[in-house]
Amino acid sequence: MHINRTWKILATAAAAAVVAVPVAAFAHGGSGQDDRTDAAKHAIVGGKARNVIMLLGDGMGDSEITIARNYQVGASGRLAMDTLPLTGEYTTYAVQKADPTKPDYVTDSAASGTGWSTGHKTYNGAISVLPNGDPLPTILELAKSAGYKTGDVSTAEIQDATPAVLVSHVTDRSCYGPNTMGPCPTNATENGGAGSISEQLVKTHPDVVLGGGSTSFNQVIKGGADVGKTVFQTASASGYQLVSDASGLAAANLNKPILGTFAPGNMDLEWVGPTPTATGTPASTCQVNAARNPAQPHLSVMADTAIKALDKQSRGNRKGFFLQIEGASIDKQDHAANPCGQIGETVEFDKAIDVALDYQKQHPDTLVIVTADHGHTSQIVAAGSTTTGVTATLVTHDGAPMTISYATTPFPGSQQHTGTEVRIAASGPQAANVLGVTNQTDLFFTMARALGLHV
Ligand code: MG
Ligand code: ZN
Repeated sequence: MHINRTWKILATAAAAAVVAVPVAAFAHGGSGQDDRTDAAKHAIVGGKARNVIMLLGDGMGDSEITIARNYQVGASGRLAMDTLPLTGEYTTYAVQKADPTKPDYVTDSAASGTGWSTGHKTYNGAISVLPNGDPLPTILELAKSAGYKTGDVSTAEIQDATPAVLVSHVTDRSCYGPNTMGPCPTNATENGGAGSISEQLVKTHPDVVLGGGSTSFNQVIKGGADVGKTVFQTASASGYQLVSDASGLAAANLNKPILGTFAPGNMDLEWVGPTPTATGTPASTCQVNAARNPAQPHLSVMADTAIKALDKQSRGNRKGFFLQIEGASIDKQDHAANPCGQIGETVEFDKAIDVALDYQKQHPDTLVIVTADHGHTSQIVAAGSTTTGVTATLVTHDGAPMTISYATTPFPGSQQHTGTEVRIAASGPQAANVLGVTNQTDLFFTMARALGLHV
């Protein structure tokens, strides 16, 4: 490895430049020098939760968290997600489709999501089905049938694996809509199946659904009772308010079910910045993405609206709500070797966590969980160094250079997930069950226990 000795000069020059992205106002200082024994004891609360808010950073391994922290609040700063009192690590492996007794050490979002959504390990690509294709009840379906309100929020197409595992059961994650059922013949309505992810989402009918993915909802259903209708038409007929931009969301009746789709595909990125190269980049900073469609709500706004709607809809009930909120494009920009892309998504996801923690302050009977589904490519390497992959150097909040390497696939190929364990942090009733080293399937049982579900 070659260390570039000129980094101090680069850093000094770049540190003087204007930092275009505002520094978060929600940074929390650490208190590691205090005796936290009593605080830890106080944080351990058993019993039931009225509400569960699960926040999932796709591909947000410890490396992705550290990169975002260094950039946004500095190495000794703390993100909102760092302030949760109880933190553990969990293993994320999938199983092999041909021999489910054997692990597949590097999971995808479908298999990992099926893990916490159903409590079962499955193969990469499976959406809440066993390796033999049999459907498994999900935490959202179980919560709904027990009387809880439910929500599913993502910055990806809402048919993407992480939001899909809560509301649908298909043998391949790519079966988003009626026109893309080739890999899932047994699930297609024209073959007597339950339909695509979009069709099943409408039937499962979470009370609040917010994300991208209008393309698949515009497709025409090919079999069953709704043949000839678009999925959007069935959604509207089933009682959903359909909204398509931030102003529509702001004007929505929060007392009624909402299906908000704010982009044809995935939602736009928050930040842009340098493209890494084999020889590195000059030290620079991230910029707000000027090309982002301002009619799309930010993730923190979607999180706030979803929580307010579910709170209203469950008011007066002993049973509150289950809500999943996903920061999806941390993963997608890690695949794309885009450091500012992934950091911007992580910072916005952290704002959504802050929204959930604010709600929890007013409603302590809420279990808040923050986790990821798998590790990813990005690594902090020696400042100014090059690797066998590509690198870019950013000037952080500390005014110091941070070099990030992407080297799990020859560039410009899509960078790949890794098989590391990832963080799981929690606060509220049942939060102690994330401590130590657990498995992503254990999270299903923790959430089910918190909601008093019989599984
Ligand atoms: Mg995802
Ligand atoms: Zn991925």
